[in-house]
Amino acid sequence: MTSDTPMKLDSLWRGAHIATMKDGLYSVIENAAMGVVDGRIVWIGEAQDLPVYEAQTEHELEGGWITPGLIDCHTHLVFGGNRAGEFEQRLNGVSYQEIAKQGGGIASSVKATRDASEAELIASASRRLQSLMADGVTTVEIKSGYGLSLESELKMLNAATDIGKQFPVTVKRTCLAAHAMPPEFDDKDAYIDYLCDTVLPKVAELGIADAVDAFCEGIAFSTEQVARYFKTADSLGLPVKIHAEQLSSLGGTAMASSFKALSADHIEFIEESDVKAMAESGTVAVLLPGAFFTLKETQRPPIALLRQYGVPMAIATDANPGTSPALSLRLMMNMACTLFALTPEESLAGATIHAAKALGMEASHGSLEVGKVADFVCWDVESPGELSYWLGGNLVKERVYEGKSS
Ligand SMILES: [Zn+2]
Repeated sequence: MTSDTPMKLDSLWRGAHIATMKDGLYSVIENAAMGVVDGRIVWIGEAQDLPVYEAQTEHELEGGWITPGLIDCHTHLVFGGNRAGEFEQRLNGVSYQEIAKQGGGIASSVKATRDASEAELIASASRRLQSLMADGVTTVEIKSGYGLSLESELKMLNAATDIGKQFPVTVKRTCLAAHAMPPEFDDKDAYIDYLCDTVLPKVAELGIADAVDAFCEGIAFSTEQVARYFKTADSLGLPVKIHAEQLSSLGGTAMASSFKALSADHIEFIEESDVKAMAESGTVAVLLPGAFFTLKETQRPPIALLRQYGVPMAIATDANPGTSPALSLRLMMNMACTLFALTPEESLAGATIHAAKALGMEASHGSLEVGKVADFVCWDVESPGELSYWLGGNLVKERVYEGKSS
């Protein structure tokens, strides 16, 4: 291309500053412009350096800041019913034991999810998804884990697949069949056998999940049980991630790291040896301040150690009906700063490039660079730090998914 051959673009965006989040830093381009072809960024830089171009559409943003589209890398967005009734009961003085006796807690979500049709699951999850999208999310991970039988887990994963086709959002699906014990099993090892022999092979055969997840905790599954389940996932070519060290230290994070887990999530109780294992395996630390807040936890994840070992920290909503009914990733960015003392820059990296890595998609998503997918948001703010500063509010000026206003 010679200097007088115009650069051909599907769309050109200009009139705002950009925090590209390259390498996890703001990496600011002031008075920026971005050119898009076939949903990918082909040019990005200061507007004054733009070469001669021809664009099918031009968008003048008239101020604000562009960041990569937000990536919510840990959600349980698909579920039947909700637990607002229990929330209200508890605040009216009904005890946890009484609620459990009534069949409340996760058991009630499992029952409601099993009872719901796929269409009902899609309809309720879509409403929650639209809240996330309105606050800047362009990629969302959705876990199964309230089905706990082959049929119901597949129903949840099918619902997640369908949602990804209906909305301008990228959906990554995770099979979390090892979330809790289903009522028809009373032996945890027997349930893990069932997952390894029946559920995971079918999930792999159908290509209906992008990763496999487990809840490793005293109230869920032991490190040995999860290791057995991960070994099967690994043999089927499915990457793994883990809910670990949320309430106690069982060694789940180090075990998951030995499987090169994409991420270890919650991790309030990890120790230095766990952080070292994560650094060596390239496992992302996914911080979930919404669950920490809702459960009134006091043990914070060891942020200084994660920084020291260079473990990337992602932030997610953990949107779920029990422990984190959170529908704004930006609010979680605020909480990561106020509760865990992340900087606003770390917090934004946690909802963009590091979240992309937690989903194994950092080569194509999570930062604004030539060759990457043009998922971005233009925010009505005067600095990128404002995204972690405001509690709520509607700051999105323009949400762009694969190069198109959405
Ligand atoms: Zn979770």
